[in-house]
This record gives sequence, structure tokens and C-alpha cells, in this order.
Amino acid sequence: MGHDEKLSPNVGLKTAAVHAGHPPNAITGASAPDLVMSTTFVIDPDVAFSADELTDESPFVYTRWGNPTVRQLEEKLAVLEGTEDCVCFASGMAAITALFLHCLKAGDHVVMSDVTYAAASELANDRWPHLGIDITRVDTSDAEQVRAALRPNTRLVYLESPANPLMRLTDVAAVSALAHEAGALVAVDSTFSTPVGYRPVELGADFVIHSLTKYICGHGDAIGGSVAGRKDELVKLRGLAIHVGGVLSPFNAWLILRGAATLPIRMAAHEEGALALARHLEDHPKIKRVMYPGLPSHPQYELAKAQLQNFSGMLTFQVADGPAAARLLSDRLQVIHYAVSLGHHRSLVCYLSTADLMRSSFHLTPEQEASYRTYAGDGIFRMSVGLEDPADLIADLDQALEPLGRG
Ligand SMILES: *Cc1c(COP(=O)(O)O)cnc(C)c1O
Repeated sequence: MGHDEKLSPNVGLKTAAVHAGHPPNAITGASAPDLVMSTTFVIDPDVAFSADELTDESPFVYTRWGNPTVRQLEEKLAVLEGTEDCVCFASGMAAITALFLHCLKAGDHVVMSDVTYAAASELANDRWPHLGIDITRVDTSDAEQVRAALRPNTRLVYLESPANPLMRLTDVAAVSALAHEAGALVAVDSTFSTPVGYRPVELGADFVIHSLTKYICGHGDAIGGSVAGRKDELVKLRGLAIHVGGVLSPFNAWLILRGAATLPIRMAAHEEGALALARHLEDHPKIKRVMYPGLPSHPQYELAKAQLQNFSGMLTFQVADGPAAARLLSDRLQVIHYAVSLGHHRSLVCYLSTADLMRSSFHLTPEQEASYRTYAGDGIFRMSVGLEDPADLIADLDQALEPLGRG
């Protein structure tokens, strides 16, 4: 299924990003990935129809089961992530939902980061407990809290590093070792760093989750998600995906393939822009605090340097009056878009009020909220630094914040 026998597994990340997953089409010679929109495939009457009987050699039958374009993307992502396989989904949330359903049943226990992508937190707070799945949320940046939360029935440790929106890191190597000792699997949502930043599986994780919608697509025009990991687990996850049905559209896969080809060079540029902006904002009289893993002022700078090869394009900043600044930015920005999402070539910024997030998404204990506030105060601007000239982004923020009082 699209596997490139000729491409050496030892090529560099930039070469893999361009070539892995789609050798030239054997029949047409097409050099670019094929877009196959067909939902059904002409088959031999002997092919097996059960999702439980899928193997690597299974032919394409029906696009919910597998599709040549989606498969090309899965092969590329597995090579980039350094895993045996990858399964794509219709969105990052579809990937997270499928992974929970794959790993867990009623009576099982999960240790999960107390701060994650808001929708993942909302699922953990409001939905999984109704299915009999018990969840303990802890600050996973403190491995001791993870150790203390593990139980005999803990099946999954769920991490996000850096965590959205805090930019707080988890030592994936240390936490994976603890989880494995306790017999639990480890999943890491690595959307903020991408495989250019680090490869969680090399640090011991079992599953790597991506919202492909963000950096891997990179252009803000296709939603998708993925889970990468070992074949023995993913063959079952693919069977589950066939049943729950949240599969990636081939057209989105094709757009994401196009984006993924330039991921390493884009990440280098995102990092360069973010570092320039972070340094500028750190010296800005109206800015109280900047959080960027590539700055020595980040509380986990040492861990960031040890585990990340690229600091990515995500940063946060705080001002004295967040809501007033949010109004100014949304009215006055000329280049940067005031919008949610991240990882696009366009720069995006939006304000996240701590009180609102506590109420809607996180439901933290007072101690957890206090820790959250050490990173985010009353609220943060989460900025996704795009691929524009950093000088233009700096000028745009400066002019938009001009009427604001000093921080
Ligand atoms: C956006 C995001 C998700 C959800 O992905 P969708 O593609 O929007 O479903 C999950 N995790 C993180 C860290 C994200 O930023």
C-alpha cells in the first residue's frame, strides 16, 4: 500500500518529508501524490470483509477502511514520527476519541494532564466518566504527581507537551518510564511541537497524536488528525476507526500531504519568527510576561533544550488588562489575524481568559489552578507565529498595542 521500497530509512527529515509515502506511481509515473476520491474499489470476490481481518496486504475495498491517498499520508507520518505505522482521522478530536475508545473500557483508569487542548479536557471531565472510565487529572510536569496517581487499573497516561495553551512541558521520558512500570500505555499529543521538535516514541511513549489541522497541514485549509505507534496496537485502532467512522477525507489527506512536505523548513522559519517576537515582547514596556520554550526565562528551559530540537512557533504573553488588549488587537491588527487555531502560515493570536477556561474546560482544583496561574496569570494571548517577516509582525503588534497602558 504505497510503501516506498527505494527510500532508505536513514534519509534526513527534510528528505523524508518530501518523499516518504509516495514513490512515483508505478503505472502513470506521476511524481506528485495521487488524489484518489473513489469510495469503492473493484475487488476480488475472495477478499475478507471484516474489520478484524485487515492486514498490511489487504487491498483497498472501501474508503472508510482505507484509501490510497490517505495511506500515502499515513506512510509519510509514520516515517516522520519514527513509528511502525500511523492511522489518520477526520480531525484531531476524532483521533483522540478513537484512541480513548481503543485503550479503555468501563472500570479502567486514566492519568491525564490537568491542562490539555480544551476539547480533550472537556471529554475527560464530561463524557468519559459517564462510560465508567475513571480519570485523574494531574500536573504532569511534576513526574511525582503522575507516580502518585497511578493505580493497578491505570491503562493510559495521557500527556500533551508543550501543553495548549500554557506552553508547559512534560518530561515524556521520565513519565513514560513510570507509566510502563505500572503497566499503562502512554499517549502524547505532540501537535505543538511536530516531529521536527521531538519524537515522543523515541522518549518512550506508545502513541503520538497530532491535530494535522495545525502545523502538519500548515496552511489552515484542511482538518485532520492522526495516531502513530506500533503495528500491533494500530491494527486494532484501524479496525475501531472503521467502526466509528471518523475517517480522513482523501482530499484533505492530499492537502495535508502537500503541507507535510515542507514541514521541516516551515518549522525552522516558525521557530526563527517566534524567537524574534518572544525577545521583542520580553523587552516591551506593555508586556508583563512572555512564555516561550526557546527563551531562558521559560521555567523549564533546561528540559526544553534537552527534549526539543525545535521550539516551534507558539508563544504566550500577558498584559495588565487582557480584555482591553484583546479588543485593541482584534480592532487594530493589520497583518496578524485575531483568530483561534495555530500552525498556519498566517500568524494568529487570541486571548484566553483564565477564569473562562477554568469554568468551561478545565475544572481544576485550587492547587492546580494556582499552578496554571504561574504560567498564565489572569489570561494569556496565545500567538501562533506564522511565516511572515518577523519585523512586520513586531510592527503590527506594536502599533495595535499603542493605545494600551503600560504593563
Ligand atoms: C487543535 C488541537 C486539537 C484538536 O484538533 P482538531 O483537528 O481541531 O480536532 C488537539 N490537540 C491540540 C494540542 C490542538 O491544538
